[in-house]
Amino acid sequence: MPAIQPSTTFLRHPDQELFDGRVYARDHSPNLAEAEAVIAALEGASEARVFASGMAAITALFRAGGPGARILAQNAGYYQTLVFLRHEHGRGSLSAHFFDPDRPGDLAAQAEAFRPNLIFIETPANPLLQILDIAEAAAIAHRHGAELVVDSSMATPILTRPLELGADYVFHSATKGLNGHSDVLAGALVPAPNARLWEEVTHARVIGGAQLGAFEAWLLVRGMRTLALRVERACVNAARVAEFLITRAEVARVLWPGLPDHPGHDIAARQMRGGFGSVLSFRLRQGDTEDGRQRALRLAGGVRLIQRATSIGGVETLIEHRASVETANPIAPPDLLRLSVGIEDVADLISDLEQAFATFEAA
Ligand SMILES: *Cc1c(COP(=O)(O)O)cnc(C)c1O
Repeated sequence: MPAIQPSTTFLRHPDQELFDGRVYARDHSPNLAEAEAVIAALEGASEARVFASGMAAITALFRAGGPGARILAQNAGYYQTLVFLRHEHGRGSLSAHFFDPDRPGDLAAQAEAFRPNLIFIETPANPLLQILDIAEAAAIAHRHGAELVVDSSMATPILTRPLELGADYVFHSATKGLNGHSDVLAGALVPAPNARLWEEVTHARVIGGAQLGAFEAWLLVRGMRTLALRVERACVNAARVAEFLITRAEVARVLWPGLPDHPGHDIAARQMRGGFGSVLSFRLRQGDTEDGRQRALRLAGGVRLIQRATSIGGVETLIEHRASVETANPIAPPDLLRLSVGIEDVADLISDLEQAFATFEAA
């Protein structure tokens, strides 16, 4: 097992030569270098940069283009990413423009109109589970001389390798599936060869100082040892939970790309290998109404094994009422609940949901 090396500074020989080329932990933490090497290998790349959180990583890439950055992003995705882009656009530090992933052809049309130099997609997207075609988005980006970054946090490199499909950068909130144990906040960026913003990203990581500590980097590496097994099991569990939910009269729609009636199913079947991910959302029969909100909250309140908490990709199953946490410009409708399915015995998860539905009907 690798050692944890907490030192911030490294000795020199009497002739001033360095041991292992290391000077100072901001540039040369051995544990961070190891986490970066593992993530690069998982994505089939030659390098990666790990940051102190997912947001530190993705915002480093968005800032890398400077005030001339023209970023075209999907208007439904991880909430704080959109908050960042709208905020920075509002104060003029970059230009952000949005496309609607639910409107066929909108990415191409908005790219034509806006002329971005960076296109940002998230697939599967949070919390509505849209699927974006990575190869098509890369072709659109490259036709306009732009680069493509894919937030692949939900897919993990086990299910999708965006660089092989033409993306220029892959982004992960390593807090989620990569670490998998809900005990490390971390983010990663992985470049294709010759990615234009890479030098700036590296500069932001080293000089900007958004480092991950040695212990967290070590935990992240330990978590990634079981990544393939965890993802495989969680995807199988998610499929069973989705099949259970579609049988329930209380549920109007299950949003999960593994279901054949999901609008992105065919694309997901092409670009995700071995599973459709462990996150799903579902909507209640009452829809976008106050009754829908109340019932969603009551159902989330009734689970016992499943825990009420934010986040995804951990070994434990979590349920969240997204509309309660997305304050301004919410993406999730009020009757939507999101489940991040873990690796528990799936029969236990289903009976927990069954008993929560029973209390919900009785009320
Ligand atoms: C959590 C998350 C982020 C942000 O990452 P942090 O590690 O929480 O900073 C970005 N994108 C997606 C899809 C996420 O789930």
